[in-house]
Amino acid sequence: MSGGDNDVVLIKGNKRLDGRGFDELRDIKMEVSVLERAEGSAYIEWGKNRVIVGVYGPRELHPKFLQDPTRAMLRCVYNLAPFSVDERKKPGPDRRSVEISKVCAEALSSVVMLERFPNTVIDVYVEVLQADAGTRCAGLTAASLALADAGIPMKDLVAACSAGKVQGQIVVDLMKEEDNFGQCDLPMAIIPRKSEVVLLQMDGKLSRDEFKQAYKMAVDGCMKVYEMQKNTLLGSMNKFVGVEGGVENGD
Ligand code: UDP
Repeated sequence: MSGGDNDVVLIKGNKRLDGRGFDELRDIKMEVSVLERAEGSAYIEWGKNRVIVGVYGPRELHPKFLQDPTRAMLRCVYNLAPFSVDERKKPGPDRRSVEISKVCAEALSSVVMLERFPNTVIDVYVEVLQADAGTRCAGLTAASLALADAGIPMKDLVAACSAGKVQGQIVVDLMKEEDNFGQCDLPMAIIPRKSEVVLLQMDGKLSRDEFKQAYKMAVDGCMKVYEMQKNTLLGSMNKFVGVEGGVENGD
């Protein structure tokens, strides 16, 4: 986020660079159970973002002095692969990935029933294979699918989406050019059933009214993502029990 670059044209008429309207999400595809050795997993394509998530555990936490007899610990590691971005990223953790790992772990901890698994740890690995802005939202969305795929009890899913300001216009789901040359990015995640916000970060500036508008757009985006998440899990469950398109498959 550069604070806004007036030389870069991001909006022409009522359309954005990739032809989307202001309240339109990028194309999203989700899939669960994509990794054999993980307890739960998910893969998401969100615009040009490609993110895979593996969930391992709950398993006994070591070293033992870290164990909590009242609840499980949920750890999250967000990793941007060196080849995922235009300018090769140095491998390993940096300030940004440590921050995103922390906010994702906090958001997911608010839905997982950690008290059911004392003394254990649940590890969530978010691997970004291709990045085009909005990777924390894509990662969180896929992570909650992977947790559900692992059969870990949760109060609800976490659904995420960003909104922001581009060339003076409030838009949803910023892509890379909009993130780089826009005026503000507001990634959010919610627990839809409780209408509770579990992630809200802001890079850039918004007036109070603009914030209200962007907040609503991001929540509306989260709700669309939530519907896709539920359909993905339902599709995977139907496949598991041999039901195709609502009709029981005999073989
Ligand atoms: N990015 C990059 N190199 C980096 C970090 C980020 O090229 O070391 C790009 C990447 O496309 C990322 C985007 O900048 O998706 C926006 O990054 P931001 O920190 O805003 O997080 P995100 O929007 O992906 O959650």
